[in-house]
Order: sequence, then structure tokens, then C-alpha cells
Amino acid sequence: MLKVTIVAGARPNLMKIAPIVHSIQKARSDNIKIDFRLVHTGQHYDQNMSGSFFEQLEIPKPHVNLECKGGSQAEQTAKIMIQFEKELISNPADLVLVVGDVTSTMACALVAQKLFTKVAHVEGGIRSNDWTMPEEINRLVTDSITNYFFTTSETANTNLKKSGVDGSQIFFVGNTMIDTLMKQRPNFKKPQIWKDLQLSNGNYIVMTLHRPNNVDEQCQLRDMINEIIANTRDLHLVFPVHPRTQKILKRLNIDHPRLHAIEPLSYLEFNYLVERAKAVITDSGGVTEEASVLRVPCLTLRNNTERPETITLGTNELIGTDPKRLKSYLKILFNGNWKKGHDIPLWDGHAADRIVECIKNI
Ligand code: UDP
Repeated sequence: MLKVTIVAGARPNLMKIAPIVHSIQKARSDNIKIDFRLVHTGQHYDQNMSGSFFEQLEIPKPHVNLECKGGSQAEQTAKIMIQFEKELISNPADLVLVVGDVTSTMACALVAQKLFTKVAHVEGGIRSNDWTMPEEINRLVTDSITNYFFTTSETANTNLKKSGVDGSQIFFVGNTMIDTLMKQRPNFKKPQIWKDLQLSNGNYIVMTLHRPNNVDEQCQLRDMINEIIANTRDLHLVFPVHPRTQKILKRLNIDHPRLHAIEPLSYLEFNYLVERAKAVITDSGGVTEEASVLRVPCLTLRNNTERPETITLGTNELIGTDPKRLKSYLKILFNGNWKKGHDIPLWDGHAADRIVECIKNI
């Protein structure tokens, strides 16, 4: 029996693990000798950022929750490592599978490798080359001790090869986040705010902001939001606020009739809004991928991206973090000249099946 421990910690992990869990369950029902243990590190813990995703994406209850919430980067890394070491010693695995780029990804990869357990990294190899992002450090550390890389793009494959990884360790499988998007698209559901604001197709923009560069400095966040308000005509701005951003937004007291700051939405409600939006303004990585596949114009408030295919093939544009740059891009949007986007190779809804096929043969 091949035992795989799957690690999830934060919101963007959950849509990535869901299809992998389902593919393993399917393999088991076909009598393949593979089993999984789902470990939630507890990095995100409340209903908004974690619980609702388990329900909507039909992820089984984790076998264990390590309850490592809060703390600085170092404190959280340390807490997760201590708890995950105990977990893996009590429940040894043949393979630890980590996804994405959060602290749990890096911390659990480190623990696994030091306990002589092979590590698979789903979404390995992507690079922003921006060392001010904690996620980039997590990616670099994780990939330096990963045995099997499941990649989402040719760029990731090239990055890995350039850093000395042998081609035999790289499996270009596609994007499990998009597996979830495609599977759940028929289930997207209207949030309450649709009715409350009388939203309709294209009469609003969805905003998400949570990167330290945008939300840790009061004046940066204030200038950015004011610039968005100033250049979006009469569109509603629907802004599900990440907990990190909420702390500082409260202090800004921005009050504008078109700006609607709300609690984070569940997955099905959030993507219902994205699919029908005039555009998305974001600094999220995952949202740029989803908007590209849904063919919704996406304005990214960052100076770099680890997902260049969302720009070359998708609907994404890098605006940067200088609020003054927004205006000219919003003009293109309102002129109806935003790029339409193309299919992205292997983002076809079957990445998780490919991953499990590879794991079976490892
Ligand atoms: N998301 C959600 N509700 C929200 C905002 C985002 O379900 O209110 C989902 C979104 O569809 C995507 C994921 O959260 O699947 C992105 O997570 P996040 O932006 O926190 O992380 P990143 O992708 O930047 O690592």
C-alpha cells in the first residue's frame, strides 16, 4: 500500500488538494493500492478561510488538524515543523505531497525530507524572482528539497532545469486549481450581495488584495483604493477582504458608495462573481489563473508574477504597485479593447488524474 500524506494549510491550498484527494479516492475504488492521510496545519482556520471550502469542494475531514494558527513567519514555520514532525513520526508515509507556496508547504517539506520521506511538490518550479515575497522564499526552499515536481507550465519546467533539477523528476501535469474551477463551474452560486446591490453581468468589478506590498502600508492601500474608485466610472466595487487586509482597512475609514468591503466569500460565491464581472483587480496568484480561464479581464497590482502564462496566454496584465498606472489600463478595459485570452496548455481539468497516475508509478 502506497501511503501519501497530503498537506494543506491555507485557503489557496484547498482548491489545489481537492481534485488530488478525489483522484486518489477513485484509484482506491479501482483497487489501486494507494491511501492518503490528510493533514491540515491550521494556518487558516475559520469558516470563511477554510471550513466552507471543505464543504463546497467535498474535501473529506482532515485526519488531523495541527492547529498552528497565527504568529510571525518564523513562529508559524517553527510551530508547523514541530507538530508535523510528531505527526509524521506517528503516521509514517511513503510520500509527503505539498502544494503551492504557503508556510505549511515549506515547513512540511523540510520535516519530511529530514525524516527520509520523499517529497512531491504540486505547482513546483514557478518563480517571481521577488525575494521580498514570503511565498517566493517558500517556493525556493521547498523546491530545493523536492523529489518529484508536478508543474503547471513550461516556464516552471525551464526554471527547475536551470536550477539543476533532473528532467526525470519533473512531471508537467497542468493545474489542479483549474481542475477545481472546471468541476465547480456549474455549481457557482449567487452570493447575497448580488441581490443586495442589484448586480448584473458586467456592472461591477471584483477586487482582492492581500500582498504585504499593497496592504501593510496605510498610504499605499489608501492611494490604491482611491485610484481604483476614481477610474471605474459607475461600477460597483465588490471587495471581499482578506483577514490580513481587514486589520489595516478598518483604520483607513474609506467610505464611498460604490466600494463594498465584505467578508471573504466562499469559493462558489466568489467565482460566481468573478465569472460575471467586468474585470478583476487583484494581487492574488490563484485569482489570475481563474480569471484567465473564465476569460475575465484581470488587472494585477504587482510588479512581477510567477505565472507568466496568465499574461502571454490569459487575460491578465501586470499593472504594478504604483496606483498611477491603473488609469491607462482601465481606459483599455472601458474601450472594450482588453485581450480575450487563449487556452493554456494542460489547464484542462485533468491535472490531478495525471498526478495520481505518476504517483502510482513512482
Ligand atoms: N477566493 C475565495 N473567496 C474570496 C477570495 C478568493 O474563494 O473571497 C479563492 C479564489 O477563487 C482562489 C483562491 O481563493 O481560488 C486564491 O486565494 P488567495 O488569493 O488567498 O491566495 P493566492 O492565490 O494569492 O496564493
